[in-house]
Amino acid sequence: MAVNKLIIITAPSGAGKTSITKHLMSVFPQLAFSVSATTRSRREMERDGLDYHFLTEDRFKQHIQQGDFVEWEMVYEGKYYGTLRAELQRIWDAGQVPVLDIDVKGAIHVQQQYPEGALSIFIDPPSVDELRNRLQSRGTETAATLAARVNKAAYEMSFKQHFNEVIVNDTFEKACLEAERVVKALLDR
Ligand code: 5GP
Repeated sequence: MAVNKLIIITAPSGAGKTSITKHLMSVFPQLAFSVSATTRSRREMERDGLDYHFLTEDRFKQHIQQGDFVEWEMVYEGKYYGTLRAELQRIWDAGQVPVLDIDVKGAIHVQQQYPEGALSIFIDPPSVDELRNRLQSRGTETAATLAARVNKAAYEMSFKQHFNEVIVNDTFEKACLEAERVVKALLDR
């Protein structure tokens, strides 16, 4: 039987993984976004069931106890995020390849569980200084949250050798082309 394929995209915050993920989804119709479960509150533009499955903490913990998650993490203080096994299966049953946009620890856990079918991609910011500039120009951070994100990013960058592919996001177009190349290689396999 052919192995189920999946694509894991991970990066420190601010490296541009969501934009690259969206680009890949627009290029390859075989890909389907894996909708994570989370306990964080819904942002105005987000739709339940499409961007995330928004769950109460009780419901999330019930899924943990039932062993329903492939992986889960408390990505931010008090906020849980996780990939449901049933979500991946739904996508495979539809004959598509799931794309997971998840944090670095979660990505390592998923990769360990699907060593044959997984392609893991780490989006690398050109440097910690450049990442700091990007986060600063986004204007969403206070001095304290900026420092926390930059420190976390530097820590996460130390894990990049765990992934199949490391793509440096110095220019968005170049990073997208490189991502297309490695995804196409997986799909053709
Ligand atoms: P946000 O709250 O901004 O949507 O996402 C915060 C972080 O959580 C991002 O780095 C995102 O990739 C990560 N994330 C989203 N879903 C999951 C998941 O199912 N598992 C893990 N481990 N991280 C996730």
